[in-house]
Amino acid sequence: MCGIVGYVGAHNASDYLLDGLKRLEYRGYDSAGMAVLTPDGYRLARKTGRVSNLATAVQSAPMPGRVGISHTRWATHGGVTEANAHPHISSDGVFAIVHNGVIENYANMKNFLLQKGYTFSSQTDTEALVNLIAYHYAKEPENNGKNRFVESVRKALLHVQGTYGIAVLCKDHPGEIVAARKGSPLIIGLGDNENLIASDASALALKTSRVIYLKDGELALVSDRSHRVITTDDETVQTVVHQIEIGLEEYELGDFRHYMEKEIFEQPTALHNAMRGRFSDDSSTARFGGLNIDPHELRQIDRILLCACGTAWHACLVTEYLIEKYARIPVEVEYASEFRYRNSPLDKNTLVVVISQSGETIDTLAALREAKRKGFKVMAITNVVGSTIAREVDGGVYQHAGPEIGVASTKAFTSQVLIGAMIALYLGRLRDMSYSDGVAFVEALKMTPDLVSEVLNISDKIHAIAKNYAHYEDFLFLGRQNMFPIALEGALKLKEISYVHAEGYPAAEMKHGPIALVSEKCPSLFLVTDGEIFSKTLSNIQEVKARKGKVIVIASDCCEFPDGLVDDLIQIPSCHDAIQPVIASIPVQLLSYYIAVERGCDVDKPRNLAKSVTVE
Ligand code: GLU
Repeated sequence: MCGIVGYVGAHNASDYLLDGLKRLEYRGYDSAGMAVLTPDGYRLARKTGRVSNLATAVQSAPMPGRVGISHTRWATHGGVTEANAHPHISSDGVFAIVHNGVIENYANMKNFLLQKGYTFSSQTDTEALVNLIAYHYAKEPENNGKNRFVESVRKALLHVQGTYGIAVLCKDHPGEIVAARKGSPLIIGLGDNENLIASDASALALKTSRVIYLKDGELALVSDRSHRVITTDDETVQTVVHQIEIGLEEYELGDFRHYMEKEIFEQPTALHNAMRGRFSDDSSTARFGGLNIDPHELRQIDRILLCACGTAWHACLVTEYLIEKYARIPVEVEYASEFRYRNSPLDKNTLVVVISQSGETIDTLAALREAKRKGFKVMAITNVVGSTIAREVDGGVYQHAGPEIGVASTKAFTSQVLIGAMIALYLGRLRDMSYSDGVAFVEALKMTPDLVSEVLNISDKIHAIAKNYAHYEDFLFLGRQNMFPIALEGALKLKEISYVHAEGYPAAEMKHGPIALVSEKCPSLFLVTDGEIFSKTLSNIQEVKARKGKVIVIASDCCEFPDGLVDDLIQIPSCHDAIQPVIASIPVQLLSYYIAVERGCDVDKPRNLAKSVTVE
């Protein structure tokens, strides 16, 4: 949530500030703004809505200057107005700030500052911080040879409760930016005679691939040719420069209308990449390079806790099903936002696994820290190399799904589920799974990309079905066993991008409440697989039909339905049950996507949502 860019160097800052913001727009799109420091003071542009509105404003009134900061906002405190858009300037005109996060004690800060004569022009929490920095700057004109700019930011931050990623400018230090983080991601990009600050590496795509990851509690003083990092306790930090790979073409939309559509169709490749090099030589089990936990230790584990938020939480539910079935280890799934504040009793032989596409999800990060604080080993499944979660866990598995820009997760979800299946296989083979079952499991996994392609090939048919259902305002998604999490995920996808009320339930639970919703106005989507519970699900479909509910069924192609029972049938290839959730996810994603398109929704930037949830 919220994108930050800072630039100091020999070129026109606003070009890079805008370019970076465009790449970070998926993190927040309530408003956008930039401040450039000139010899005559700050030039400020802020617009509600998209970065394109800001770009138009800057085009008609250029903002020349060599140092600046910019921001795309996901509002937490104060409505979506120009006055609340960042950057915010201190009331004495000395400092400009952009901020990601929440200053929880801003009200006390503000009262204190009002008494000292500082004034406020927004409802944001951020403005309290920029004025507090100005207060410390004015209070301590001498700093024993220390940089007064850095010192005033550092001293102000000592009073902050909450989270922040900030980039700050000071009128009296025209060639410098101070950046700091606690809880919200921030990196420094090192260029030639120019340096950048950004929320994530995608914003640096045009400039550099050399980065420093700022850690919580660190501040950086950045100029065009130098950078220095200290802690908020004023200790020097030895920085490590990382070389990152950024494939510019991965960020391009190509022939697709939306990133979500592009990412749905990228799934065969993403799944292939999730598996590359990860099977044993005899193809009877999975292997992972970065788990950092040996098989002997893994055999001692008698419980697994899976922790995540949102879509990744659904990936945890599928993984729970698979690990319990194939490795016979009890698994519990927790929302990270609940786990972090709940004092769950954990057995000493528990392995904690967190899942986060961005590797920056604030609640998941907090959950991992809480688990580590209690002495547990924590693994992660994450997509972004070098993300905070990836750096803080004991070991884990990278998804290698490529950048996911669409706010509604698609390829990241299926790749998490596939990796979950591979972990189930690996743990199963360490315990009771036979060699031949392992081989069959691996064969099934290897077939996944092709089976996903088969489903993508019927996208036109799914689009046609979506057209008939786009006008409904309520939906039920129902499935049993390994299809239940996909029902939840389907309902979430539809809500996220179409603003249609949808609920996911285990199919049999329908009779305990949701069936009251069934009518001509509320269709039900059933996820059906073959096997012993097929006939039970068939009965649930009958119950919906008896109440005049329309029924869409996504089913394995070996399932047969009585004439007239199903209004619309989407057949998916029959396969090993470990990969069914991945295969069944594809029509669910396509259906939501096409319904959103038919309803004229902004698929990649859905109302009120942003990707990478970095505020609580
Ligand atoms: N809390 C700040 C605001 O509401 C920053 C929000 C953000 O991270 O975009 O303006």
